Amino acid sequence: MEHVKELISAYIDHELSDSERLLVENHLTTCKECQSLAKELSLMSQQITNYYQSVDVPDDFEQKVFADLNGLASDQISDNKTLKWIAIFASVLLLVVFLASFSPIVLMIVGLASSFFTIMYSLIRIIPLIITQIPYLTGGSMMLAFFVMLLSVWSLRHLLVR
Ligand SMILES: [Zn+2]
Repeated sequence: MEHVKELISAYIDHELSDSERLLVENHLTTCKECQSLAKELSLMSQQITNYYQSVDVPDDFEQKVFADLNGLASDQISDNKTLKWIAIFASVLLLVVFLASFSPIVLMIVGLASSFFTIMYSLIRIIPLIITQIPYLTGGSMMLAFFVMLLSVWSLRHLLVR
């Protein structure tokens, strides 16, 4: 006769299927060896259960656990809020890009803006170069004279209009 020792622990924990349970029960009626093992394991299981029931759990333990869980939940909510704003920003950006690629006006504005910034950037880079080069340019003094003339004309007109 084949023993059912490997099934007995699961039998005690009520983890067997109906057919396995019947097999073990039938075997236990005839086999002393497996009966004593079942008794032993059953006793051990009972002792473990008793031990866990005797462990003193503080009265507010459950409340604390739920408070911690709530804290975690609210942390997750604030993370979700950040994610939501990122999602909104990304959506707006995508919408702008989408409109820019289909609307000629937006495309024109974007084009003008980028041209403007390109020109400004070039000027900012070129101006110091021009300033340092002016004294060495052949027409430098002429340019300076022209500039002074323009300035005086402007001043004169300004004075006269007043
Ligand atoms: Zn047996």
